[in-house]
Amino acid sequence: MILTVASGKGGTGKTLVATSLALSLKDKSTIQLIDCDVEEPNAHVFLKPVFTERESVCVPVPSVDEEKCTHCGKCSEVCAYNAIAAMKHKVLVFPELCHGCGACSYLCPEDAITEVGKEVGVVETGHADGIQFAHGKLNVGEAMAPPVIRRVKEYINHEGTVIIDVSPGTSCPVVESIRGSDYCILVTEPTPFGLNDLILAVEVLRKLDIPCGVVLNRTGVGDNKVEKYCQKEEIPILLTIPLDTRIAGYYSRGISLVEGIPQWRGRFLDLYNKVKNMAGSRVGQ
Ligand code: SF4
Ligand code: SF4
Repeated sequence: MILTVASGKGGTGKTLVATSLALSLKDKSTIQLIDCDVEEPNAHVFLKPVFTERESVCVPVPSVDEEKCTHCGKCSEVCAYNAIAAMKHKVLVFPELCHGCGACSYLCPEDAITEVGKEVGVVETGHADGIQFAHGKLNVGEAMAPPVIRRVKEYINHEGTVIIDVSPGTSCPVVESIRGSDYCILVTEPTPFGLNDLILAVEVLRKLDIPCGVVLNRTGVGDNKVEKYCQKEEIPILLTIPLDTRIAGYYSRGISLVEGIPQWRGRFLDLYNKVKNMAGSRVGQ
């Protein structure tokens, strides 16, 4: 089963839930945690994995042979991202805008364009006390998260339970990370911002046809509008985590919730069982 942990906005406690779930399950079955929050991966801070492999992620960008180029302009006409500009005497390439689609080299009538690999990030894999671990890291200044996400997802071990930590929001990297999962846990908080971003995230999941449930973090502040929304939309609230300075204190020191307060382990196991029952029909369990 592939289980994603996402949130419409940052800072809701998504990684706290993903890592606590992985740690609660590690003695029960094969568990893998994949951190797809490639712009700011931080699950490793809590799981402290030993990394055994590191791999570069590259995208193909064009390189123009000026000897062959006739400056016909076809490459810049075809590029949807303005990543290549044919000037009168020179072709300029803007690698940071290039999506590596290959259209320019395919259509160049002079065969003047070859593709060269440009590193946009890395994938690191290893293990953390029985948990298989992989994360992607986008290079500083790079905007192309999806290729790194796709590469790290190639490490998914379909033999066990996979927990994917997704970047916050509802943009392309989030869709890329969630695509193909059996269930999505949405972590939010009981505030107007939390509700607004939850609604957006639910819309995305419904378009992707992936069932979801909610973990409500920091209850005791805000209002009950998230609960009312979930009730109206028939979205289960799987777990509530109260606002507690002890939890925040452990989190700030890189200690997961279930290690700081072991009584939470049972609640995360309950959460997993609920999800397993709801996702079971999709994964044939
Ligand atoms: S399509 Fe090829 S020949 Fe035409 S401008 Fe671009 S690189 Fe030069
Ligand atoms: S590979 Fe695609 S995105 Fe990159 S410059 Fe060529 S046409 Fe544009």
